[in-house]
Amino acid sequence: MTTTDPALHGEGYGTMSVAAILAETARRHPDRTAFHIGDRTVAYGPLWQQTLAYAGALRERGVGPGDRVAVHVPNVPDFARVYYAVLSLGAVVVPVHLLFKSGEIEFVLRDSGSRLLVAAAPLLGESLPAAAAAGVPTVTVLVPDGVDVPAPRLEDEAAAATPLRTYASVNPLHPATILYTSGTTGRPKGAVSSHLALVEQVHVTLIDTCDIRADDVIFGGLPFFHTFGQSSVLNTAFRRGASVVLLPRFDPDEALAAMTRHGATIFTAVPTMYVGLVQAATRTADRPPLRFAVSGGAALPVALLEAFEATFGAPVHEGYGLTETAPTVSFNYVGERPRPGTVGRPLWGVDVEIADPWVTDRVDLLGPGELGEVVVRGHNLFKGYLGNPEASAAAVVDGWFRTGDLGTKDEDDVVTIVDRTKDMIVRSGYNVYPSEVEGTLVRHPAVAQAAVFGVPDPVRGQEVHAAVVLEPGAHATADELVGYVRDRIAAYKYPRVVHVRDALPMGGSGKILKRELVAEYAPAPAPS
Ligand code: AMP
Repeated sequence: MTTTDPALHGEGYGTMSVAAILAETARRHPDRTAFHIGDRTVAYGPLWQQTLAYAGALRERGVGPGDRVAVHVPNVPDFARVYYAVLSLGAVVVPVHLLFKSGEIEFVLRDSGSRLLVAAAPLLGESLPAAAAAGVPTVTVLVPDGVDVPAPRLEDEAAAATPLRTYASVNPLHPATILYTSGTTGRPKGAVSSHLALVEQVHVTLIDTCDIRADDVIFGGLPFFHTFGQSSVLNTAFRRGASVVLLPRFDPDEALAAMTRHGATIFTAVPTMYVGLVQAATRTADRPPLRFAVSGGAALPVALLEAFEATFGAPVHEGYGLTETAPTVSFNYVGERPRPGTVGRPLWGVDVEIADPWVTDRVDLLGPGELGEVVVRGHNLFKGYLGNPEASAAAVVDGWFRTGDLGTKDEDDVVTIVDRTKDMIVRSGYNVYPSEVEGTLVRHPAVAQAAVFGVPDPVRGQEVHAAVVLEPGAHATADELVGYVRDRIAAYKYPRVVHVRDALPMGGSGKILKRELVAEYAPAPAPS
């Protein structure tokens, strides 16, 4: 299954490679800073030279066009070297989630048919057993000085190998990456994206939506294994020759300090990072010279957007996207006045419509303003889920990718995401959209974060629960928060139970894991 029309795309293309993003910037601007990490900087020229050296080592291990290479490396310069080295060989990058345990890594290695794993030394505890079980050889990077590790070092192999002369160009429609995405349920699925999808995404972002300049310094705390960090930060910054402030692990105080020290001008992040940064700003006078900020990956509550803008004096532009769309679908374009609470207009060359969510065998489009499932088609669409024709066929119907998100599109083409179709709660026959209830809860001054979810209920089908994290030092009882929301929205929507917690369960890419909350608070089944 492909989502591109062969009549349009099969003929007449030249060749291309995502690797050209780094190669061409290094050729033209070898001395520019690609990365700030701690007190070190890495310039584009040396970064590319080492990438070619790594590619030489990978080639000697037999990696060639179309081969899959799994990469389990945090946000350090070696992620970029390995990523572009694999792509330079015409091979396919399979990034592995940093929080995955051995069993999950083994699944990814087997499912993707990876012929090699490149793993950071500090993560070998999980990845080596996985690779051994899947029979996949492992090489390692990021080995601390003087430490022995139980896997060969890529750097040593690169020193002994002949570096690649330059990157291989490939058919633009060939796979570049396979990103594992779990959606809200089920086993992770490998979303295959082409070189064209990734390169187009970068170009449209730079030309239309984001106005990134060569002298911009971009926050690099979003994980590169995820589409948001990989496309919207790494590839986009590198195409323009801007610099990225690397943060291997997100800590709000360290993030604010690093951004201030390196003069960050763009903050690209998920809403939980916005929460952290606003809180960190109460503990220091540090303020980076931000020009604008970008939010995506989950709904950004308007109250949080306003708090961030007031604290940092920079406009926040929210966008919407998915792994399957590499990622951005719609955006509040930089240079235009953002519409808080919306995810802006479709990207150039990307069609966004609203379809009847209950009709699944075809796509039944609805009219402006009507609420339904967001469907997408365009150059950024994935090629399908690897080895999973059923899931691919269910996801792409009549050429449209069904996102599983509920939303609207108004007369001006502005898209609003209301919720995941699967997160919608049906209480006594009434639909409750968690994001609306969450938006009300976070307006309470004591509430820093809120997640609203449905718990099975024998009488009402589902009951509305909320888990909240309070602002540091703030106090509010669960009853007070129930009453606060009850006073503000319709009676069927307010949470009957509020759980005040120290933290919410988070996925590595900044999404709240609601299914874990549901499992925690669901009533135990009655003994049979
Ligand atoms: P992922 O594939 O991990 O990037 O997750 C994609 C999902 O994130 C989408 O299907 C949405 O449910 C959610 N998402 C992304 N951006 C937004 C946004 N701005 N507002 C609400 N949900 C979003």
